[in-house]
Amino acid sequence: MLTKTGNLLAENILDGKLVAEELHQTVSKTLQHIGTISPQKPKLVVILVGDDPASQVYVNRKAQTAVKTGMLSEVLTYPVNTTQSQLLAVIEKLNADSLVHGILVQLPLPSHIQTEAIVSAISPEKDVDGLHPFNLGRLLAGEKTALCKPCTPAGIITLLQHYNIPLAGQHAVVLGRSNIVGKPVGVLLLQENATVTYCHSKTRNMAQITRQADILVSATGIPLMITTEFIKPGAVIVDVGINRVNGKLVGDVDFNAVKDSASWITPVPGGVGPMTIATLMLNTLTLFTQQTGIKAD
Ligand code: NDP
Repeated sequence: MLTKTGNLLAENILDGKLVAEELHQTVSKTLQHIGTISPQKPKLVVILVGDDPASQVYVNRKAQTAVKTGMLSEVLTYPVNTTQSQLLAVIEKLNADSLVHGILVQLPLPSHIQTEAIVSAISPEKDVDGLHPFNLGRLLAGEKTALCKPCTPAGIITLLQHYNIPLAGQHAVVLGRSNIVGKPVGVLLLQENATVTYCHSKTRNMAQITRQADILVSATGIPLMITTEFIKPGAVIVDVGINRVNGKLVGDVDFNAVKDSASWITPVPGGVGPMTIATLMLNTLTLFTQQTGIKAD
């Protein structure tokens, strides 16, 4: 099957690239409409510390997509030896800038900078990745109104819903418990009435647990770890991992080995990654509307 984006894909592929493109078009149309009522545009600022080539690619992709959909965007790049207090000063300035609506700090940060301190310094109103403790707390409390959910987890739910994958009553097993992916994706699946099990590096007999999964979400960052022995035939597999092996991008899942036993599966690249960026665009638009009161009717 040839998709609209020109990829040759099997029929059980959860095509994040395709769904993300549709979401970008929705955002673009909303912004065109907003353009007829106000000269103001949403502005996303992405901060990158250090020169990790993969992070540079992600950051540029985020900024370029923002511009493509009709937003303003700025990438602020700082050297790896930037101090925590210098970074905090940058965030303080952006928090006070009424023309900036969304602030994203690309993770991971260099080890001498405390991620929690930086994420907590972003104003919750401009926290476009929903990672500020206040916003994570609201997520856990099940608050739904005007909440920016973390981009990768929310993008995964949107992708599953786009393909009408049933979530209620399904056993979802999440591999990984980071604040950015694992924990929130489990919370969102729970909100969709899935029964959720978390696994992590200390989990014993993991394959016994994952073989019970109707939906398996892997976010470990261990390349090609998930082989057929981890999969129940007919399971839905969401591969969050982005790993470089011999210069090639691979996920946590051995895609070729498991694709025929899965009912649905995300490719890497082209699965969760594009959905993360599309959700970032939606979140920036949401924050803009919250801060300015400007919205398309
Ligand atoms: P972290 O390193 O913060 O978390 C990894 C998690 O995996 C930890 O909870 C860890 O457990 C768990 N883990 C490690 N080894 C095992 C194992 N053998 N079995 C089960 N669990 C294990 O990573 P992130 O959550 O930030 O990212 C995970 C992956 O997703 C990475 O490849 C990253 O590049 C990718 N990613 C992709 C995005 C996208 O848009 N597609 C966005 C964000 C991340 P413990 O807590 O015990 O250490």
